[in-house]
Amino acid sequence: AELYRVDAWGAPYFSVNSSGNIAVHPHGDGTLPFQQIDLLKVVRKVTESKSLGGLGLQLPLVVRFPDVLKHRLESLNLAFERAVASLDYDSHYQGVYPVKCNQDRFVVEDIVKFGQRFRFGLEAGSKPELLLAMSCLCAGSPDALLVCNGFKDAEYLTLALIGKKLALNTVIVLEQEEEVDLLIDLSRKVSVKPVIGLRAKLRTKHSGHFGSTSGEKGKFGLTTSQILRVVRKLEQAGMLDCLQLLHFHIGSQIPSTDLLSDGASEAAQIYCELVRLGANMQVVDIGGGLGIDYDGSKSCESDLSVAYGLEEYATAVVRAVRDVCDRKAVRHPVICSESGRAIVSHHSVLIFEAVAAHAVKSSFDSQVFVEGLCVDAREEYDKVYSAVVCGDYEKSLAYCDQLKQRCVEQFKNGSLGMEQLAAVDGFCEMVYGSVGAPEPLRTYNVNLSVFTSIPDFWGIDQLFPIVPIHRLDERPGVKGILSDLTCDSDGKIDKFIGGEGSLPLHETEGGEPGKYYLGMFLGGAYEEALGGLHNLFGGPSVVRVSQSDGPHSFAVTRAVPGPSCSDVLRAMQHEPMLMFQTLKHRAEECGEKTSLASIDAIAIANGLERSFNSMPYLVSSASFCFSD
Ligand code: PLP
Repeated sequence: AELYRVDAWGAPYFSVNSSGNIAVHPHGDGTLPFQQIDLLKVVRKVTESKSLGGLGLQLPLVVRFPDVLKHRLESLNLAFERAVASLDYDSHYQGVYPVKCNQDRFVVEDIVKFGQRFRFGLEAGSKPELLLAMSCLCAGSPDALLVCNGFKDAEYLTLALIGKKLALNTVIVLEQEEEVDLLIDLSRKVSVKPVIGLRAKLRTKHSGHFGSTSGEKGKFGLTTSQILRVVRKLEQAGMLDCLQLLHFHIGSQIPSTDLLSDGASEAAQIYCELVRLGANMQVVDIGGGLGIDYDGSKSCESDLSVAYGLEEYATAVVRAVRDVCDRKAVRHPVICSESGRAIVSHHSVLIFEAVAAHAVKSSFDSQVFVEGLCVDAREEYDKVYSAVVCGDYEKSLAYCDQLKQRCVEQFKNGSLGMEQLAAVDGFCEMVYGSVGAPEPLRTYNVNLSVFTSIPDFWGIDQLFPIVPIHRLDERPGVKGILSDLTCDSDGKIDKFIGGEGSLPLHETEGGEPGKYYLGMFLGGAYEEALGGLHNLFGGPSVVRVSQSDGPHSFAVTRAVPGPSCSDVLRAMQHEPMLMFQTLKHRAEECGEKTSLASIDAIAIANGLERSFNSMPYLVSSASFCFSD
């Protein structure tokens, strides 16, 4: 556990149990020992064939824990409730979940359900997100906010106005100045009095990667002059009372509470100014940015961690808003946040298999080796030999490199054969071993696409904790990097939390073949929505696992296989049914022409059908049969 820092990044949801497996604590600190879920048992249950009582799903697999989602939501609300009470704040907290972080139907429905008692709402940033938020919130608290962010056209605005007509607590947040004219016009046409918000472009700048859109030159929001023009336009239209919310978002992963307080104070000043200008202000919406400690370092030095917890976050916000409003004698507003990462990151774990581990291994044949070496190469060989005899580690390695270089030159000009070149590699490896050079990194091939399942690693160098989910009571003997299934040199993971260029891993040889399971944790936000279809590897299988008081401490409440080859082909406009018919017809033709008994058109059709219906990922040879 220490080697992988599980306690640092995983608390209070993940730990290592006495069997050396990752244990999930679905209710955080409140989880009783018998309620802990052994992740390996879940994987076994889900992947075992149906005939053996399993669910027969293929990896990679996302395991969702709705109990964790509930706990996150409760903890966030509790943190604000405590801050409000302890700081004598005269209003309340009422958050929304930005659906872009994970739009999965069951995730959003769970959040609405668990959030009902907190009047928790949703935030949408596009038309389809608004449609899903509207429909999901029909089951939510009537007071829950529906915050409409993002760039808007007439269709988006009309949809949001329909939301208001449907008695959803819809707030249209103006992201650009032009949106106000369109909104005034449409609200008259649709005869709806909208609740309007403004997104302010704050001067406070978050300097990390996620803050690149904050500050005066940021991509989003209205500048001070634009805000004043919008206020004037609303006043002229007799709609200034519609302006009720001020929103800002200084970026995800806000590193420190100092920066947060700075941003919240600036926003509170704007809020008070809007009150002074006659708007009917009710809510300060502080956006997202509540960070996650991906590497367990609890520091604000990198984008991978933050130096605060939920309590400190809530206290900083409530205090900053209260202090500004008190100075200006303005009634305390409702505080809304749009925390996404902090709500959904922990609730899902991606499980994948390491299918093979390769170290470059060559064999050394002394007979072959000496034959045919040119004079230069022989000289280098002699130097290596003397350096080894003297125990000079550095020189041995340097001369080995030179020897290899000479021999490769010889191979390229045709004067050295392949057997000899291989023998030189073997000789050098033997030298590395004898002088105690560190073992080269092992490459573990993983049954996964980085582009589909961990796109932020490829796109923005985001690191997530990756850990074997079992064998954690054995000291791992190897250092490895992970290479995915795509035919792309970027499809590898060679950076890990803690600044490491390799991951401690166990030998896979000798264990159950193909049964070395790795988990990627804290990836419940953004990764699923951003993933692509590189090499046509689709998404993983998904299961929902709840804590249960039955004999296994868990129950799988939903299991969905990942997209099949047909599904991913369809996504690229291919027609799998037609493709199948074409290939089947071809098999029949080949059978007729060749009249070879070996061309069994039926077996081929079955094989093809199976390929179209299965997931694109590797299937172990044990479970594959061509003519099934
Ligand atoms: N609100 C807005 C407007 C955003 O752009 C984002 C994401 O960047 C969020 C909320 C969610 O932020 P986070 O995931 O950091 O909570």
